[in-house]
Amino acid sequence: MQKHSRRLKNWDKRYLWHPFTQMKEWVRQEPLVIDRAQGVYLIDTDGRRYIDGVSSLWVNVHGHKHPAIDAAIKKQMDKVSHSTLLGLANTPSVELSKELIAIAPRGLKKVFYSDNGSTSVEVALKMAYQYWQNTGQKNKRTLVHLQNSYHGDTLGSVSVGGIDLFHKVYRGLIFKTVTLKGRGWETVSDFERLLKKKSSSMAALVVEPLVQGAAGMLVYPRGVLKEFRRLCTKYNVFLIADEVATGFGRTGKMFACQHENVTPDFLCLAKGITGGYLPLAATLTTQKVYDGFVFNDRDQKKFFHGHTYTGNPLACAAALANLAVFKKERTLEKLAPKIKFLAQRLKMFYNLPSVVGIRQCGLMAGIELKSHFQDRGCVDVCQRLRDRGVILRPLGNVVVIMPPLAISVDELDALLKATYRVIKEYETK
Ligand SMILES: *Cc1c(COP(=O)(O)O)cnc(C)c1O
Repeated sequence: MQKHSRRLKNWDKRYLWHPFTQMKEWVRQEPLVIDRAQGVYLIDTDGRRYIDGVSSLWVNVHGHKHPAIDAAIKKQMDKVSHSTLLGLANTPSVELSKELIAIAPRGLKKVFYSDNGSTSVEVALKMAYQYWQNTGQKNKRTLVHLQNSYHGDTLGSVSVGGIDLFHKVYRGLIFKTVTLKGRGWETVSDFERLLKKKSSSMAALVVEPLVQGAAGMLVYPRGVLKEFRRLCTKYNVFLIADEVATGFGRTGKMFACQHENVTPDFLCLAKGITGGYLPLAATLTTQKVYDGFVFNDRDQKKFFHGHTYTGNPLACAAALANLAVFKKERTLEKLAPKIKFLAQRLKMFYNLPSVVGIRQCGLMAGIELKSHFQDRGCVDVCQRLRDRGVILRPLGNVVVIMPPLAISVDELDALLKATYRVIKEYETK
């Protein structure tokens, strides 16, 4: 194994290009190669175990190798692994659409599948835009988004992105949008000001409800989302809720919108939908939007969008099993004490001089370190955490804590203790 492990590390450096990675730095280091996993632990090719502190990039829900999800995928594999939704239907994608509508905010009636978070947003943007074209309100074309927003890496989602570091270089390729000024409640007043002048040209507002994840776990004040909903309804502009990160229990409820009793016109889902097993995404919408696409075929008003692997049966089977585990293991009910424990333990981090902010919503948290940590410090902290058996991935100067919902209080405790110690050691070095 050891020899093979060494070989894999060399092949990785020779053949692989990693996402969001400066490869010059990557090839200077030993890559950590994950070979197996169990529960909340990842196991590398040298047999070392690590707590998966960011849910394998915010996707894992019920732990790795969950028997029920494993079994569901295997069972589906014995039937069919892929069949298209263009001109055909398939069993698991039909069943899943019914289940998703059952748990979604009331009023969402239709499910459109794709295969990642970015495309779930692209679909919503295109549907919103085309709805107004189809229904004779051709001026309603502008998309509005928040500062610091992140909706994915395809060009449409980048167009509604507001994180300069990721998005600036592509400015020349993207379409024009309107960015709301300020943060929190300020954005609401800016939106209202804009609506009063220009709502007749606006197609949709896209938001990450409650938490802007990629911006560094920025938590929005309660009530803002509800107010966005009220204004969108009043001025006849669609509300797109990107719950790619917040969906499937991360905030303590199944969907973040449910904290404020909000039904968006579009709900974008991905990451946690399959429990972190397979790529799958869904854009849910209302009967009204759907009806805006129902015409005679010669009118050419159908929705011109579809990915090859749309509604993949294996991924849908995993998603169905994931939803069944939510019920069977009462995942959401068991979450409350973990969220409380996390909140208590996070307070302790204020004892550390380099910690300047702590943000939490449900089981999503960010520990903000002094700004000079942005360059190297935060990466170093996460690197050192590996020696203590924890995998975290920072965002700028923010240490992100986002474990699988299935993590136990003891495992959460171990994760936080290790993080605390490593930041403390780093400060005093
Ligand atoms: C991760 C993320 C996306 C993009 O999802 P991908 O599957 O990486 O394309 C979009 N929106 C939000 C809020 C996300 O966190």
